[in-house]
Amino acid sequence: MYKSRDPTSYFKLKVFMNNLSINCNACGKANKFSLTDINSAQVCLHCRQSLLDGVVIEMLPHHFVPLSKAKVPLLVFMSGPNCSICKSFFDIFTKSARTHSGKVRFAHAYLPKNKAFATKYKLRGVPTIALFKQGKLKGMVNGGMRPKELSQFIANSLS
Ligand SMILES: [Zn+2]
Repeated sequence: MYKSRDPTSYFKLKVFMNNLSINCNACGKANKFSLTDINSAQVCLHCRQSLLDGVVIEMLPHHFVPLSKAKVPLLVFMSGPNCSICKSFFDIFTKSARTHSGKVRFAHAYLPKNKAFATKYKLRGVPTIALFKQGKLKGMVNGGMRPKELSQFIANSLS
């Protein structure tokens, strides 16, 4: 069983997994697909909404390695409990996910569920926005951003 408090087991997990299970953020139902299909568009088996592109993926620890190593860069927004800036930034993040569909994938990581991630990347607070390309951290910012600033951060991190 995976232990969320051990950051090293978090990154070894990939070895044991062939499938990725993601809950659809429209209908909430679980969807399982092969890791070999991570680079193609995936739709929910139940409601047909996109699972990975143009939407905000609700990130759990086992999602990070496969998503961050996929061909499409991954933008992670870490939020925490009782964070009002996080709440208002969530809308900006969701809209930005639509406009960047196909170019960048967007994942929301709730801190209490993603502690190993926070430890590994030495998060200083919430919200934190981090961009990964082919498994590597390309940029990280602590604090909320306006839509234009977020787009600029993405562009700068990818350049
Ligand atoms: Zn669905």
